[in-house]
Amino acid sequence: MIQNKPIHLQKYTTKVKEGIYQIVLPTPFPVGPVNVYLIEGEVLTLVDTGPKTEEAWEILLRGINEAGYQLKDIQQILITHHHIDHCGLLERVRKIAGAKTLGHPLLAKYIEKDQTFNHYRTHFFYEFSRECNVPPEYQHHYARQLEYMQSLMEPSQVDIKLAHRQQVPGLKEWEVLYTPGHSQDHLSIYRKRDGVFLGGDHIIEHISSNALIEPPFDPSNERPMTLVQYRTALEMCADEKIEIVFSGHGESVTNHRELIHNRLKSNWERTENIRNLLKDGPKTVYELTTLLFPTIFQKELDLTLSETMGHLDLLKLVHQVNVQKRDGISIYSIESNER
Ligand SMILES: [Zn+2]
Repeated sequence: MIQNKPIHLQKYTTKVKEGIYQIVLPTPFPVGPVNVYLIEGEVLTLVDTGPKTEEAWEILLRGINEAGYQLKDIQQILITHHHIDHCGLLERVRKIAGAKTLGHPLLAKYIEKDQTFNHYRTHFFYEFSRECNVPPEYQHHYARQLEYMQSLMEPSQVDIKLAHRQQVPGLKEWEVLYTPGHSQDHLSIYRKRDGVFLGGDHIIEHISSNALIEPPFDPSNERPMTLVQYRTALEMCADEKIEIVFSGHGESVTNHRELIHNRLKSNWERTENIRNLLKDGPKTVYELTTLLFPTIFQKELDLTLSETMGHLDLLKLVHQVNVQKRDGISIYSIESNER
């Protein structure tokens, strides 16, 4: 079998597989550079756009040129999820190229910057902070974070909403897979012919993706158990015949089953840590978070609270913890016969 070796075209673009170019863009965020992809199909498709910075914009244009195209050649943009390192430049690309946006139906709410939805999310996170017993001085952390994120993106729209297992319009070899957990609108795409999987932030070689807490889209529903979603979506991908994963950050993955197995295992070890912490008495989500992440919880409160909450959801699901509400604050304890 002839190996398809990546071809480094110039500085920013690599032809990683037949008809797939990877462009690496800088971001101002701790996660580091983001990978976006150009796919040649019936329609030239850009997968993710990178953050809204002039530096990323310049490099995106150069990267597209290195692949032999111009921005106006892009006919559609597929967004893996709404995080601003992946779609900050969406509206600029969309407008200048006259391209359509493809994404998960839930992507629309996030990128339209719908005021009602933004208020709903802010309110949810305020209530969530209270439920976790976050001290008042940190309770505005979420609102400030959401505002900052919003400032890094222009409102945009989704033109074509994609369904799980459907063929990607304009890319007949590619199939859509819903992969929620890291975000509620996360999707990946898969080319069965050669097992190529574009995984956004779902499968990343060097980092374990956060399963970020989000409100339910329908306020009458329960909050989604994001870590359970993430683990389930990983298991779904482990069952697929994937040869190579091209991620939103970092290197490609050629041993996806092993990586998923290790992720699930180390993830469950943290679940066990939390269960052990509860052995010496009931605790709130905030208290557990400070114990688990003593050096970073202040700086990364949203990420660390999500992490703790996710594991508590898991423990609750398998009947290993009890939760009681007192004055709106959730208090977790180990099942009494476990102590
Ligand atoms: Zn992300």
